[in-house]
Amino acid sequence: MTTWHEYIQEDGTVPEWPYPIRYDKVNEITSDVLILGGGVAGCHAAISAAKNGAKTVVAERGMAKRSGAGGAGVDHWHGACTNPCSRVTPEEYTRAVFDSAHGYTSIPVRYISTREGWDTLLDCEKMGVRIRDVEDEFKGADFRDEETKLMFAYDYKNRHIIRVWGYNIKPCLYNEMKRLGVEVYNRIVITSLLTEGGKQGTKVVGATGVNTRTGEFYVFKSKATIIATGGVGRLWSFAPELTAAGSMGDLNSAGVGHAIGWNAGVEFVLMEQTGPGWMYGFGYAPYSMANTSNTYHGAPIVDANGKEVPWVDINGRQLKTVLERFLPSPGQKFQLGIGIGLYYYLKEYVLNDLVRDLPERILKGEFTLPLYADLTRLPEPERRVIFGMMVGNEGKTRIPIYDTYTKAGFDPDKDMLQAPVMLPEAYRISNFWSGMSPPYLRSSAGGGLLVDWDLRTSLEGLYAAGGASLFGGGCHGESHTTGRYTGRKAAAYARTAPEPVVGREQIKAEKARAYAPLQQSKDGIGWKEVNYAIARIMQDYCGQYKNELTLNLGLRLLRELRETELAVAYASNPHELGRLLECFSLITVGEMTMNASLARKASSVYLDFYRLDYPELDPPEWQKLLPIRLEDNKVKTRELPFDHHLKPPYAPTYEENYKRHCGL
Ligand SMILES: Cc1cc2nc3c(=O)[nH]c(=O)nc-3n(C[C@H](O)[C@H](O)[C@H](O)COP(=O)(O)OP(=O)(O)OC[C@H]3O[C@@H](n4cnc5c(N)ncnc54)[C@H](O)[C@@H]3O)c2cc1C
Repeated sequence: MTTWHEYIQEDGTVPEWPYPIRYDKVNEITSDVLILGGGVAGCHAAISAAKNGAKTVVAERGMAKRSGAGGAGVDHWHGACTNPCSRVTPEEYTRAVFDSAHGYTSIPVRYISTREGWDTLLDCEKMGVRIRDVEDEFKGADFRDEETKLMFAYDYKNRHIIRVWGYNIKPCLYNEMKRLGVEVYNRIVITSLLTEGGKQGTKVVGATGVNTRTGEFYVFKSKATIIATGGVGRLWSFAPELTAAGSMGDLNSAGVGHAIGWNAGVEFVLMEQTGPGWMYGFGYAPYSMANTSNTYHGAPIVDANGKEVPWVDINGRQLKTVLERFLPSPGQKFQLGIGIGLYYYLKEYVLNDLVRDLPERILKGEFTLPLYADLTRLPEPERRVIFGMMVGNEGKTRIPIYDTYTKAGFDPDKDMLQAPVMLPEAYRISNFWSGMSPPYLRSSAGGGLLVDWDLRTSLEGLYAAGGASLFGGGCHGESHTTGRYTGRKAAAYARTAPEPVVGREQIKAEKARAYAPLQQSKDGIGWKEVNYAIARIMQDYCGQYKNELTLNLGLRLLRELRETELAVAYASNPHELGRLLECFSLITVGEMTMNASLARKASSVYLDFYRLDYPELDPPEWQKLLPIRLEDNKVKTRELPFDHHLKPPYAPTYEENYKRHCGL
């Protein structure tokens, strides 16, 4: 294999574009169910649609075998409430998430995910994903059930989160899609939704896309379409040269699904919610340094003198044993894990953690930096399950961390992992490897496509699935499970839907828009400069604190960026064209966020949302959802109570609604 440096040294030039370029070629593909995005949600939706008899097509930005946030693996599956060992019902889990979020989450998404999550995991097991300790490696461990051989994370008493050997989960899904005859189109950047009559707010009948290798244009015609394009990165922070250490973010997550939905007139909700953002390149590779979060939950942390940092429960009571770190505290029925798209937890469900005033204790000299994770202090099964089973299966850690460290001689039975040396304040959050990022960096959090009990959006023919495309979704299990559900529902809809009729004028206009950057001035700037500019506007005008004036200025600047620099930006090959098209989407998502922020004329602790011109925190009259959409290209806002999914025309309970809609 020749390295980049060897190539340049030998050839003295950069390589030629390696694929044939055919910008003029148009491909038309017809399906019953079209899935946009082949992450775990999209792939599972495709499997489900195909099993339900639909001719199914997936259009994916990368390569569906490994693409997306779950492409490199997963080590724990949340919300498996109906597994035989669980002591938490789907109702209890949904209620806990809803109450923790103070209403700012989606009941259907959470309930469907917990009602069908275990069945979905069993499907994955049939596809070849190992979910049990079949080799009895952890026999007798506190986190293992001897009969089923299932292994649990976080809360060993209530057992609703399952540890899985998920390094191969994407290839398993991919092979299953292929076995079922799903047509997968890789390297496609989707650019727009096609609607009946080419009008905003009408039935969705397909989508358009560009192949980022050949430049060919794609017209996908479909009876039903599912958006599963994941989340929105690159909006407040952009540092592609640093992404080697930023594998929690994916450059392909550019909010395209949100933008095409918005332009088509679909309703979105909670786009105003943002959370602290990370410029990952300023931290360390995920799970490469000492921490106690997520995969490392329960790990002992010691200071430079070997003094152990205490673990405490939610009442501040010091936990004496390792086992206690994994058990609910007095007053708690069960604990919810982290990484489930929840940004605020009620005390009743919070995990045990390191002492919460660790920064102050470091400042007082009680603990001396650097800190270390001393896994030798754990019982042997706990040590092996963290640095072994979990780091060996978690997304993006199997090769870079587990394999590299092990080959370099790291032995968790003897060695300690150092934590990054940071400002004391940074030790308040226990995933130390992510470092401390500037406070003006934010990220989208929680908002997305508003769906009903069918996981259908506000437009006929259009469904949604996944962790971040959907309002209220958050984790790996939810992504699969909403995919599985929505694939079934979309297939059922397609059975009765007429053949899709696409408007030629709409396609012509979209093709002209998509290829414009190839014709523009070669003196124009490129996609990276545009992306930096978008991020700077978002940092300055749509940070944690904002007011009507800053938001309107931000909207003006985004519009001007689109009409000036972006209107003359240049793409010299299909890859750059794809990235530039994503910049248009990022601007759109920025506008959605600012418009949603203008609509919420109040501040909220639960949403980490502060309007300087409306400082009152969570006034009762503003405790509601504010869906937004475009109608005749004008922003329309309406109000929705938190429990709208339990009000007419819906039934008053989770279970009745589920039974009426699930299609089983
Ligand atoms: C490193 C890492 C570790 C994680 N570990 C866990 C864990 O252990 N447990 C857990 O519960 N969760 C975990 N998560 C979160 C979990 O992986 C995600 O919630 C889940 O994978 C989201 O799946 P998705 O299919 O909704 O979205 P994504 O995985 O983001 O998939 C979206 C897909 O759409 C494609 N796409 C985007 N734009 C376009 C476009 N314009 N055209 C066509 N295709 C497009 C993308 O290429 C991608 O393949 C982890 C995440 C990361 C990054």
